Amino acid sequence: MRLTFPIAVACGFLLAATYAGAQTTGAATASPPISDSIRTLVGRLNLESYKATLRGLQRFGDRRQGTSRNRAAVDWIEAQLKSYGCTNTERITYQFLGRQVQNDSTRRVDSLARAAQGLPPLPSRGTGPTGPRFTTDANGVRYDRQGNIIKGNVGPTGVNMNPLLQPDTALRRIDMEPDTPGERQEVYCTKIGTGHPNEMYIVSGHMDGHGYGAALNDDGSGTALVMELARVFNSPDVTTDRSIRFILWNNEETGLNGARAYVAQRASLQGIENPKGSGKYPEPKWLGMIQHDMMMWDHGMPEPDGKVSPVQRREADVNIEFAGTSKFADEAQKLAWFFRRSNDRYATDYPAAVGDRMSNTDSDPFKDLCPAISLRENERLAQTGTGWNPTWHQPIDVYSTFSDPDFRLGLNAAQTTLSAVAQLAGARLR
Ligand SMILES: [Zn+2]
Repeated sequence: MRLTFPIAVACGFLLAATYAGAQTTGAATASPPISDSIRTLVGRLNLESYKATLRGLQRFGDRRQGTSRNRAAVDWIEAQLKSYGCTNTERITYQFLGRQVQNDSTRRVDSLARAAQGLPPLPSRGTGPTGPRFTTDANGVRYDRQGNIIKGNVGPTGVNMNPLLQPDTALRRIDMEPDTPGERQEVYCTKIGTGHPNEMYIVSGHMDGHGYGAALNDDGSGTALVMELARVFNSPDVTTDRSIRFILWNNEETGLNGARAYVAQRASLQGIENPKGSGKYPEPKWLGMIQHDMMMWDHGMPEPDGKVSPVQRREADVNIEFAGTSKFADEAQKLAWFFRRSNDRYATDYPAAVGDRMSNTDSDPFKDLCPAISLRENERLAQTGTGWNPTWHQPIDVYSTFSDPDFRLGLNAAQTTLSAVAQLAGARLR
C-alpha cells in the first residue's frame, strides 16, 4: 500500500525504522533478545494491583456517559494518574446530544426542549433492528445482519436496559441516574519522550459503560490496564525516547464519540511545536494507536443451547486485531505482529493471536490516520458478536463474576502492551 499524505509518509517511515526485520506476512523473523530492563518493567505489573484498580472503578457502577457517576469516575481516574506521577493530565471537552436511556420522562423533557427550539416532536421510539439475527444462503453459509459469515454455536447478545435486573440494590441505586445530553469530558496524560517528544504512541481504553452492572470487563478491564501502564511508565527511574499518551475515552458505547472528538480536535495539531522554540509538542505525531476493550473473558464458544462455560478455557489468548481494509493496513499489521512477538517473550501465561478484523472500538477513528490495533479477550466480530461473553452489557459485568484466571488474561494483555510499547518508545531504566 502506498502512502499519500505527509503525516502518513512520516508515520510509515518511522514504523519501518522501528520494526527493522519485520515482515508484512507475519512469517517468523529474528527478534531482539529478551531485555532485562523490559523484563524488570513488566515485573512491575502484578495481579493484585490490577484487581485493586478494577475494584476502584467498580465503585462508580457502570459509569454511563452523561451521568454524575461517569463524571466522578473521570475525576478519580485523573487523580490516580497524577498519583502515579503522570501529572500533566489534560481533558478533551465535547458535546454529546443523544440519549442512551429513553423512557417516558426523558422523551417528555426532550420534546419540551425541541418545542422551545421550534423543532417537531420526537418520533416514537423504534423497536431496534428487525428481522432474523442470522440468515442462511443456498449453500448453507450463515451470515449476521452486517453480512459477516458466522460459524459454530451462538449465544444471546444485547444491552440490558432494565435496572431492576441488577440484584445488588446498592449497585442498582448507583446505576439509576439516566444520562443527560450536554457537555462531556475525557482525560489523558502523557509520558514525554526525552529524545523525540514530538512523536508518540497512544495507549487507550474506554471508561464509560452500560448495562446496569459495573462495566467491569467492558471496559473497566481495559481502563485498569491503561492506568497500570501509566503507573509503570511514570516510575521516577523510567525514561522513554518517544512519548506515550494514556487516554481513557468516554462515550465509546454511544458510537465512539469521545475518540471521534479527540481526532476532530487534535489530528491537525500533530507534530507542531507550540510555542515555537519551546521544545513542547501539545500533540506529538501519532506513531501508533493501541486500544484495549474487554480483556478478561475467554471461556470459549457457547454450547449448542447458547450457554457459556463459567471457567476460563485452557486455550485462552489475547486477540490482537488490525483493520485489513484500513489505509494503514500494512503498518498496522506489522504493529500487530510486533505485539505478538512481545507477548511471546514477556507475557507469563497466555499467548496472543493476530486477526485482521478490528472493529467496533475507539481505534476505528484512527485506522486511516495512523497504524491502529486493538487488544481484546476474543475476536470482536466472530466471537464477541456471536455471544461468547454472556457478561457483555449485562448486570453480571461486576467484579464478583470474574476469577483469577480471568483477571490474569487482562494482566497478560497488559504485559503484552507494556513490553511492546517499551521497545517501540525506547524505554530505559536509570
Ligand atoms: Zn467496550
